[in-house]
Formats: sequence, structure tokens, C-alpha cells
Amino acid sequence: TKKIGVLGAGQLGRMLAIAGYPLGQKFGFLGTSHDEPSALLGQMYTDEVESLKDLVKFSDVMTYESENTSVEMVREIARSIPVYPGEKSLYYSQHRGREKGLFDELSIPCAPYQVVDSLENLTQAVDEIGLPAVLKTTTEGYDGKGQFVLKEKSQIDQAWKAIGGRELILEGFIDFSRELSIVAVRNADNEHVYYPLVQNVHHDGILRYTIAPARQISETVQTQAEAYMKALLDKLDHVGVLTLELFETVDGLVANEMAPRVHNSGHWTIEGALTSQFENHVRAITGLPLGDTSPRQPVAAMINIIGETGPVAEVLKMPNAFLHLYDKAERAGRKLGHINLVADSEDALYEQIKQLSAFLPAEDKSES
Ligand code: ATP
Ligand code: MG
Ligand code: MG
Repeated sequence: TKKIGVLGAGQLGRMLAIAGYPLGQKFGFLGTSHDEPSALLGQMYTDEVESLKDLVKFSDVMTYESENTSVEMVREIARSIPVYPGEKSLYYSQHRGREKGLFDELSIPCAPYQVVDSLENLTQAVDEIGLPAVLKTTTEGYDGKGQFVLKEKSQIDQAWKAIGGRELILEGFIDFSRELSIVAVRNADNEHVYYPLVQNVHHDGILRYTIAPARQISETVQTQAEAYMKALLDKLDHVGVLTLELFETVDGLVANEMAPRVHNSGHWTIEGALTSQFENHVRAITGLPLGDTSPRQPVAAMINIIGETGPVAEVLKMPNAFLHLYDKAERAGRKLGHINLVADSEDALYEQIKQLSAFLPAEDKSES
């Protein structure tokens, strides 16, 4: 038995604990309140310096829920107990400029980019990169927050007013056919495992559903994605789950961003794969052999429950559907849970998805 400390107490920590209990692991969480999703699943510490010390005392190993965790804090904790993924993974993942620099270094294709910190810089970057382009904060963005899509030069002032006044990154707009992601895991014994590429569909910047595996992915493309992941895992000495978001384009895969953690696009693995991303993360950080990442069924899907809980009884009545609620209060745009579906064929899967359309955004509003 190992005691695992989690910085954060949201749904990711909650699902790590649910996966870790059968392996005999114990969990402690550092959150901000006792209302958080993980509060009933282990020792709960609330967010103060003294609590962090207590959590370190409790834990054999520490992990975190967010790439926005402070590198200095992780370095400090690592003086007492191992923290996985390590500080390098965090350092690169929490800053879009560093992240893209790493992609370049490892010859992983990504959008042309420029980090800017003034309106003059931005104007110059627009000239060099061209339009359309996406302007983003270098740090702390999630669910598409802190972004501005620039279509014309006349929007530069407006964009700077909207999100400027801090360091930004301008990225060339990638003309993609689909958004994909890949979840990979490495342990300290240098074992590597990869889940199949999945397809992600977003609406208003929020992931709405994932199809796993993504349809019509050639072996070459899967192998390419795994090679990018291997390069990243090894370069970072990464221990735990690492996720890479990718654009599928006519010229091949283009990296968007990575996350040094279990990922929403990997939630399908709970019932959809022989070993879930959560169990594999727990295995990796506690020095256990990694589990088989193969899908259990030919196709699977994950539908996020956003904002309001919705007709969950319908889910419970459906065969091959699995409900996961995070014990969170309803609020617009908030991830409250997800539904996993598994099926023997694509047709059967899409039939199930259709029956659950109440959980998906209306088609007329669907994103460009
Ligand atoms: P997440 O919630 O996944 O962490 P985020 O806020 O970090 O999201 P990104 O993933 O960088 O933001 O961007 C959000 C979405 O915006 C992407 O999923 C994609 O649809 C679109 N997007 C981002 N960058 C580009 C780009 N360079 N070209 C085209 N579309 C982009
Ligand atoms: Mg992100
Ligand atoms: Mg993203």
C-alpha cells in the first residue's frame, strides 16, 4: 500500500482514487473546501501552508491535477517525497511558449508562433505569422478561455484590449479536419504504453464528446503519434500519464498542447480500455508495472455532462452506458460528470449517442 497525495481535489483526483483503491492505495487531497469532488474519498486537507505540510507527511508520493501547479512548490515537496510527473513536465506544460519550443526541439510539428508582450510586438507578429491566427495567454488558459481568434488586422487593438496586458502567444491558425488526442504513460522503469488516438469534439471551447478510437486512423498515423509521445516522455523523464492534443491536417499531425496528467479525452478508458488512464497513472507513480491499454470493445465514446445534470435516468436504463457524476453543483459551463458508452460497431455507438442527444449541444449552435 502506498499513500498518494494529490494537489487538487476535483474530479481527476476523485477518479484517481476510485481507480487506486482496488490496488490497495490510499489517498489524500489538498483542496480549497470540503465540498470538492474528492472530499469523501480520502484524507482531505484544505489549501493552506500548514495543510500542505500535513499532506506531505501523510503521503509516500505526490501527484497533481493541474498543469498550473507551482513549479517552486513541487520542487519544495520533492525535497521530502517524490512528485510525479516531475518538475520538468510541469515547467514545459504550463507555458505555451516553452511547450512549443519543446515541440520544435523534438521536431514535433506545431503551429508557427511568437510570444508577445506589447501591442507593437503583436502587430509585428501578425505581419510575420499572417492571418487568421489565434492569440492566447501563455499561461493558465483552459476550456478555450483567454483566447482571441484574429481574422483581420483591424481586430488587433480589440484583441489586445480583450486579453493583453500580460504575456501572450500568437499562433498561426491550423486548418484541421479533426481534433485528436493521445494519452501515454511512462513509469520510472522506463516502460511506455499508449492508448489509441481518439477524436474530440468541442463546443464553445469545452470538450463535449470523444470517440475512441478515432475513426479511420491508419497504423502510420498512430505510430507517428506514439513516436511524438515517446520523444516527449523521454525528454521530460516523465512518470505518469501525459496527454497530447493534436490537429489532423492534410500534412499530417500537428501538436496543439500537452497536459502532464490524466485528461478528459481519456475518461472513456474507465470502461472502454483494459486498464484505465487513472489506474495506469496510479501504477506509474507508485512503481508498479503498467497495464494493457487495449480497448475492451471495438468502439467507445465519452460524453461530458456540462452545466446541468440532465436526464441521467436515461443513461442508467441503457445497456453499455456508464454514468460518472462528480458530486458538483450545477453551474453553466461546468463539467459535472460524463457518460461512457461502449459498442460492438460504429452504427450501434452512434445510435446510443443519438439517444443521449439531451447531453449534447444543439446542432444549430455547433462550432465552426
Ligand atoms: P483545454 O481545455 O483543452 O486545456 P485550452 O484553453 O488550453 O483548452 P487550446 O486547446 O489551446 O485551449 O485551444 C482550444 C481550442 O481552440 C482547440 O481545441 C481548437 O479547437 C482551437 N484552437 C486552438 N489553437 C488553434 C490553432 N492554432 N489553430 C486552430 N484552432 C485552434
Ligand atoms: Mg489547455
Ligand atoms: Mg486544449
